[in-house]
Amino acid sequence: MNGPDPVNAENLAAGYNGEEIIRSVSCSFEKGTFTGIIGPNGSGKTTLLRAISRILPATGILELDGRPVCDYTTAELGMVLGFVPQDEERSFAYTVMQVVLMSRYSRTGRFSPLSPDDYARCNDALERTGIGRLKDRSIRALSGGEWQRVLIARALAQDTPVILMDEPTSHLDLAHQAGILSLVRDLAGSGRTIIGVFHDLNLASQYCDRLLMIRDGKIVADGSPAKVLTPENVWDVYGAEVVTTSHPATGRTILLPLGTRHADSHTKDNQNVLVISGGGSGGELLRFLYRRGYSVSAGILATTDSDYTVAKVLKIPYIPVMPFSQISDHALEKLKRMIAQSDRIVLSAHPVGTGNLPVLEAVRGTGPGRLLIHLPEGRDIASYDFAKGAAAAVYQQILDAGSPCCETHDSILRHLEQESQRKNREGDP
Ligand code: ADP
Repeated sequence: MNGPDPVNAENLAAGYNGEEIIRSVSCSFEKGTFTGIIGPNGSGKTTLLRAISRILPATGILELDGRPVCDYTTAELGMVLGFVPQDEERSFAYTVMQVVLMSRYSRTGRFSPLSPDDYARCNDALERTGIGRLKDRSIRALSGGEWQRVLIARALAQDTPVILMDEPTSHLDLAHQAGILSLVRDLAGSGRTIIGVFHDLNLASQYCDRLLMIRDGKIVADGSPAKVLTPENVWDVYGAEVVTTSHPATGRTILLPLGTRHADSHTKDNQNVLVISGGGSGGELLRFLYRRGYSVSAGILATTDSDYTVAKVLKIPYIPVMPFSQISDHALEKLKRMIAQSDRIVLSAHPVGTGNLPVLEAVRGTGPGRLLIHLPEGRDIASYDFAKGAAAAVYQQILDAGSPCCETHDSILRHLEQESQRKNREGDP
């Protein structure tokens, strides 16, 4: 039979100077789990952790093992709950070992001698966090990363069933981040309940069982990393555009940033720009124009292309097709309609075989007035031909018709802006 959860909070509220920072937070944490609290800067992650640890007074229900936290004496709390702060002032020149040994006094009482077992546990904690060789060093002579590992070792030596960690790896290099978080995972595996605040969403995703995403002091998503770290949630809560993919070894979610849309972008220009690309050639350009506020659409994109992923994530209209398939009449008709409805068309040079040659032919029919060609510097149009010369011939016809050929995204932008200014001068709608 399952007992009560090690930590249970209902309607928790806490803050500073009479101002509530976290509000109506209800969540419980099961034994043997590692939960990450994530959210933008200032959203209340640390405040929530401090409220759970009782460092900060809170209203609402807070129970440890089914017992109200206010019923615990300080000594009892020290045996149940360990806390790893982001940093701590090093007011005295204690040695590393002295700091770690302090964690044992909650069990022995302040003036009782420590036992060989207490020393053994502290030595073990130092070894597990990789700082055994520093045990006699003054804490003032440690780097930020070494000090952070001392704070973690102290919580390990405290040997509590619940450990709260505030950005436990923020000062650590990559190898030590991985080492400490693997250790934390093992602790959860052996039955501890770990709750950690994370700044780095990818690290949280790789190591946590569950994520709580908070915004403005409230939980807005709760579940597995894959469930919580969706592009939609990250956009809503962080205002950042990301794509998600899977870690090749673990299968866990990875976020890759796409950038942020310019704040003033919508009003600058209202041209509809259709980017015709393929094989990943247009992904960067789609992002670039989107971020500058153009109403962008994409052409026919195979579902394995990276331009497809960009269009999908940014919710740019596109026509999906199966990779390596012949383009259907239906898709081609749709593309022709998009071409007809767009103010400007940018043909991003991309590999063309017999399968997608009809796309190039449809673009050729556009005429030079609305068409721009993006041919990156140093590339020869013939290098995109995979149709035994047929694609190179159509590309050449398009170039010969006199459309501007741009090497960079900036020059595309200049052309689009000039066109917009011309339209404004002439009073075009
Ligand atoms: P996060 O950990 O998500 O970055 P915090 O919980 O540290 O956010 O802070 C949430 C809000 O509470 C912020 O607006 C911050 O300025 C405020 N805050 C944090 N600590 C204090 C404090 N000691 N006194 C007053 N306001 C604070």
